[in-house]
Amino acid sequence: MPELPEVEVTRRGLAPQLIGRVISGVAVREPRLRWPVPRDVLALAGRTVRTIRRRGKYLLLDCGDGHLILHLGMSGSLRVLPPGTPAQKHDHFDLLLGDRMLRLRDPRRFGAVLWIAGDARAHPLLAHLGVEPLSSAFNSGRLYSLTRAHRTAIKQFLMDGRRVVGVGNIYASESLFRARIDPRKPAKKLSMEQCRKLSQAVKLTLRGAIRAGGSTLRDFVGADGAAGCFQQRYWVYDRAGQKCRRCRSSVVRKLQQGQRSTYYCPSCQKR
Ligand SMILES: [Zn+2]
Repeated sequence: MPELPEVEVTRRGLAPQLIGRVISGVAVREPRLRWPVPRDVLALAGRTVRTIRRRGKYLLLDCGDGHLILHLGMSGSLRVLPPGTPAQKHDHFDLLLGDRMLRLRDPRRFGAVLWIAGDARAHPLLAHLGVEPLSSAFNSGRLYSLTRAHRTAIKQFLMDGRRVVGVGNIYASESLFRARIDPRKPAKKLSMEQCRKLSQAVKLTLRGAIRAGGSTLRDFVGADGAAGCFQQRYWVYDRAGQKCRRCRSSVVRKLQQGQRSTYYCPSCQKR
């Protein structure tokens, strides 16, 4: 499933391909995505893609008077292709831009293609999203104040998109390991120092994943644009039963938190 780093890598790959280009047409082959593709989308021709932003896992193509909102869902990918490239089974949406087109492939159809006139932040799907972890607004003070009212475990707090957006299961485990915080610790019990370490760890972890995905950027130019080939070396994620890479003495443990697996080192992340 595409996570924040994959979406950010996608954004960076698409930006130089699309920004400044005029939309020349739209093709919707399957409007039944996670939400029906609105008819407004069919009337986008003539608008210019001014910039591409990301909010959480949503890509926002700024068209001046509104935004085309794209989400990759569980299985979506975006590619830039020559116009006229034959569509395959799961190629549901094309945005034509003169000598190239942006194509959404989404076998499971949990992705989204939406339009909002004006400010994208006002869209109901975006309005309640939490702080962006890679922004300067996400810092020790902000994390400290955000966590005060929550006795839920810090791992689950981090993964709650209404608090902090886009920190998925892998990145939550990895960040807590880097910050040496027990994933079960109640969020409100974190000290200011722990909030400082954790906010930095989240940024480091996400940036590392974005860098690891950077090698897929070239795919957006060619025919095969599968983003999200992240060959990362994890500290604890998916390493239950193996020796901790830091302390080299304890064994990484796995536990369940809210139906999700959490990985941690009982020595490095003491209660
Ligand atoms: Zn350890």
